[in-house]
Amino acid sequence: MLSRLTDLLLPPRCGGCLAIGTWLCERCRGRIRRLQEPLCRRCGAEVESARPDCGCRVRLRSLTRLRSAVAYEGPVEHAIHRLKYKGWRRLAGPLALLLAERLMVEGLAASAAVAVPLHPERARTRGFNQSALLVRELMVRMGLTEPPGRLVRTRPTPPQVGHDRLWRQNNVRGAFAWHGADLGGRSILVVDDVATTGATLEACAAALKAAGSGPVIGAAVARVTV
Ligand SMILES: [Zn+2]
Ligand SMILES: [Zn+2]
Repeated sequence: MLSRLTDLLLPPRCGGCLAIGTWLCERCRGRIRRLQEPLCRRCGAEVESARPDCGCRVRLRSLTRLRSAVAYEGPVEHAIHRLKYKGWRRLAGPLALLLAERLMVEGLAASAAVAVPLHPERARTRGFNQSALLVRELMVRMGLTEPPGRLVRTRPTPPQVGHDRLWRQNNVRGAFAWHGADLGGRSILVVDDVATTGATLEACAAALKAAGSGPVIGAAVARVTV
């Protein structure tokens, strides 16, 4: 409650470098690294040469596309950290804008958007779901609707950080479910703050597909590049 209040009352401060004035200052914006073409058409990873897919098709079966706005480094990494762990909710605006711009440049549209859900326990300790804040911003900017139901996490999963691709895939497989009406072929944008291998977004997409969705596009503000 208190952090919510200070978040609303304090003057804007840059999530990248703490400069007073805006939530993401000009200097930090200039230092954001955009992902370098060529990108894998399917998963959006930086690849050596343009190809329809980088070998990701076997593991990203339910996602039609996966896109991230920028690389997870520098000012964006700091800003996402402050959004998630320091409760700087207002950063959801400028971060969602980066993502909206990327999706619009690529002509990737959907009719509805959902956030990768947190497990209720984590949502309670954090007090909010950063991805849900991003979705709210994207809805306004991109004219997306809320689908008739809720994507839920059916079991807690240990954090993905520090594990390899296969471990991550097994960790989140079957961890999500759609609670609500059949999605009736709607195209859905599923949104997270950061993507690494795309395993979490893929597990969400599998749940949406099982509930009758059309194409599912995974979208993350930032991509971990190694
Ligand atoms: Zn800055
Ligand atoms: Zn790929």
